[in-house]
Amino acid sequence: MAPAATSSRSHAAQDPREQQLDVSGQNRVAIFDKQGGPVSIKDVPVQKQLKRGEALVRVIYTGVCHTDLHAMLGDWPLDNKLPLVGGHEGAGVVVALGEGADQFVKVGDRVGIKWIATSCLNCSFCRTGAEPNCPHAQCSGFSVDGSFQKYAVSYANHLSIIPDALPLDQAAPILCAGVTVYKALKEAQLIPGQYVAIPGAGGGLGHLAIQYAVAAGYRVIAIDTGADKKQLCESLGAEKFIDFKTSKSLVDDIKAATPDGFGPQAAVVAASGAAAYEQALDYIRPRGVLVAVGLPGNTDIRANVFFTVFRSVRVVGSYVGNRQDAQEALEIAASGKVRTHFKTLGLSQLPQVYDDMQSGKIAGRIVLDIDQ
Ligand SMILES: [Zn+2]
Ligand SMILES: [Zn+2]
Repeated sequence: MAPAATSSRSHAAQDPREQQLDVSGQNRVAIFDKQGGPVSIKDVPVQKQLKRGEALVRVIYTGVCHTDLHAMLGDWPLDNKLPLVGGHEGAGVVVALGEGADQFVKVGDRVGIKWIATSCLNCSFCRTGAEPNCPHAQCSGFSVDGSFQKYAVSYANHLSIIPDALPLDQAAPILCAGVTVYKALKEAQLIPGQYVAIPGAGGGLGHLAIQYAVAAGYRVIAIDTGADKKQLCESLGAEKFIDFKTSKSLVDDIKAATPDGFGPQAAVVAASGAAAYEQALDYIRPRGVLVAVGLPGNTDIRANVFFTVFRSVRVVGSYVGNRQDAQEALEIAASGKVRTHFKTLGLSQLPQVYDDMQSGKIAGRIVLDIDQ
């Protein structure tokens, strides 16, 4: 992934659009009526009637995640709403509130719309901070309309507050990619000084995982391929880079990258290939953990029972994060410790972005300017 446009981190020059809190003109949406598209850009009336707990967010930037492509294609074993406005990395400002929403956010707050749009906050999952697992959770850009629109109706209780020091375009990819890898690192339950291998380290999830890991005091072994990704991973703080295409034995090389040769304490698999999962089970050290994050379509994790017991390894799935995880991920980014590499395009280019994603042409993260 080539480093692309990044904004200043410490002194966010606020976008003038953040000051425009009046709801004027039309809503601009990227919408599709049936699975597989086409996705069309349309002007429609703004939904100004808000129900209890809802907030109207003027979206300024939104990231594009592979999940958005899956929702458009309909190739997941879950049904989404139709017609659908996708998007779940929306960054903007609150412009109106429904009744009761003001206990969570105020008009003018800089906020993020993330994958979990709302949850009941009262089930055993929500009460223990496992909001993504709430049976009543709604997902932005999937079961409810998301952030590929200028004025998005969302739920105030799950909006994330974006710190002032973080520009909105920088914040957008943190809302899904950033919080996802941040949470995955938490699930690994490492302590500072321990090693984490990150397959897919040079990609959209991986390059953020490196930075959150380094910020937490973990030592990173980056796994990816090519000189550009090596340079990127090392510049972000990875101590070792292992090229999976040129390595003669990936498992041996990763084990050898740790001082005692037993391998890393954890692998956070941000890659979406099945091989990355199988190899990780072989190179994590005894008592190590594989955290599954990348989503290969229709793939199993095959773990030999004998060696799972004998080596006492753990395999855990990690699925986005809760409200607090999202807040922490944003605040760490605002502190300057995590910086997203992305390319900015316009909302009107979303159909092309989907085509390029399908043909594997998208290298880094894409952030869309809603007004372009
Ligand atoms: Zn996502
Ligand atoms: Zn719940």
